[in-house]
Amino acid sequence: MNANYVILCIDDEETILDSLSMELSGCFPGVELELVQDNAEAEELARELLAEGLEIPVVVCDYIMPGRKGDEVLAAIHAIAPKARTVMLTGQSSLDGVTKAINRANLYRYIAKPWDRDDLILTLQGALESYVQDATIQRQNAELKELNEGLERKVEERTAELRAANAELAEANRTSNQYLDIIDQHVLICRIDKAGAIVYVSEAFCRKSGFERQELIGRNYWQTLYFNLSESRIREIMTTLERGETWQGEIRHQSKDGRDYWVHEIVSPDLVDESLVLGFTSIRQDITDKKAVEELSITDALTGLYNRRHFNSVLERELGRAREDGQRLAFAIFDVDHFKAYNDNHGHAAGDEVLKRIGRLLNERYRRGRDYVFRIGGEEFAVLLTVRRPDEAEAAAAGLVAAVEALELPHGHSPVSPCITISLGLRLISPDEAPVTVDQVFTEADTRLYRAKAGGRNRYVL
Ligand code: GH3
Ligand code: MG
Ligand code: MG
Repeated sequence: MNANYVILCIDDEETILDSLSMELSGCFPGVELELVQDNAEAEELARELLAEGLEIPVVVCDYIMPGRKGDEVLAAIHAIAPKARTVMLTGQSSLDGVTKAINRANLYRYIAKPWDRDDLILTLQGALESYVQDATIQRQNAELKELNEGLERKVEERTAELRAANAELAEANRTSNQYLDIIDQHVLICRIDKAGAIVYVSEAFCRKSGFERQELIGRNYWQTLYFNLSESRIREIMTTLERGETWQGEIRHQSKDGRDYWVHEIVSPDLVDESLVLGFTSIRQDITDKKAVEELSITDALTGLYNRRHFNSVLERELGRAREDGQRLAFAIFDVDHFKAYNDNHGHAAGDEVLKRIGRLLNERYRRGRDYVFRIGGEEFAVLLTVRRPDEAEAAAAGLVAAVEALELPHGHSPVSPCITISLGLRLISPDEAPVTVDQVFTEADTRLYRAKAGGRNRYVL
C-alpha cells in the first residue's frame, strides 16, 4: 500500500478513538492512522498532511460531537480533500445528518454505533480500494492524456514540418519550371536518344530551325537537321561521340525554309556511370551575326573576294597544311596592265567594273575546296591553288592570263592589247623544298610579276 496514505479518524470520545486505533491497527499495513478528538483541529490537520505530500484516502468521523456535527466536519474536509472517502459513525440513526453528509461531503458510507468490527474493516477497506482505484484510473487517465497531448504535439510538429517542406518544394518546383521555361524559350537545345531519334527540342530550337516541334520529335536528328552537312563532317562528330566525348564546333546549318544560320554547337553524350550512352544532348548558340561580321572583315567590298587581311592568314595556314600533307601549292599574284590609263580614259567607275568582272572570273574558275582567290590591293589579285604537278600550275597561270584577255573588256589605251590584260608572277611551293615563309613566297611571286611587266605584260613568269 502507498506509504503516503493516512486514515483520519475524528471522534470527541477518546475511548472510541482508542478502540478504532486498536481494531484497525494491522488491518492496513503501511497506512497511518491519525486520530483527532477536537474536530475544530480536523481541517487544520488535514491541510498539514496534504501539505506534507501525504494523501487522505479515508476519513472516519463521528456524527454527534460538541460544536459541529459530523456532516459539517466532513463537508469541511471534503472541501480540502475532495477525493477522500468519507465514512460517518452515528449512534442514533439521524437520517437528516446522513442526508446532509451525502449531499455535502459525498458520503461514502455510514456505520451505526456500536459497529461490527468486521463490517467496519470491510467498509474501510472498500473505501480505501475505491480511492486507490480512482487514483489509479486518474493517474492512467492523466498519463493517457499526456501521451495523447504528446502525440498531438508530434503530429502538429510533423504536419508543420511537412507543410514547410511542401512549400519549399513547391517554390523550388516553381523556380525550376521558370528556369525550364527560360531555357525552352531562349536556348537552342535538343535531346536525342541512343538511336538518334529526337526526344526533346526547345521552342527556341524550333524557331531557329524553322521546324514545328511535332515535326522533329521522333525524327532522326542527323538526317533531319544535318542534311546540308558533308558526310565526313558528320562522321567526325559521330566518332567523337562514340568515344564518349563531347564534340563542339562551328556549323553552318540550313533551316527548313532554306535560310543559312551559323551555330556553335556542343553535342555531349548523356552518360550513366561514365559509360552507358543513353543518348545525346545538343546545345547550339546562334553565331550567325558573328559569322557575318567575320565574313565582312575578311571580304573585299568591291569584288566580294577575300581581302588582304585574310590572304595573310590563309597563306600562312595553307603553307603549313600542304607541307604536312605533302602537297604542292601554286601561288600567283597578278596585276592589271596599264590600269591607270584605263581609269584616266574610261573613268574610275568603269575601272571598278573591270575589277568586279575579274573578281567574278576568279570565283568562276576556282571553286574547288582548296582554291583561294584574293584581292590584295588596288588592281592586284592573288590566287592560291593546290596542284599535283608543276605543269598543272603553269597551265593554270597561262589559262588565267588568257581568260582575262578573253573577257574582251576594251581598253583603248593599252599598248599591249585592245583589251584589259594582266601580268602574273607564279611561285610553286613543293613539299620537298626547305620551308618558306609567307613573306618569302609573296616577295618571290611579286618579283616575277615585275618581270612579267618588264617582259612586255599580258603574260606570266615562273
Ligand atoms: P602597270 O601595267 O605597270 O601595272 O600600270 P598601271 O597603270 O596599272 O599601274 P599603276 O600602279 O601606275 O596604276 C594603278 C592604278 O590602279 C592606279 C589607280 O587609280 C588604279 N586603281 C587602284 N585601285 C583602284 C580601284 O579600286 N578602282 C579603280 N577604278 N581604280 C583603281
Ligand atoms: Mg599595280
Ligand atoms: Mg597595274
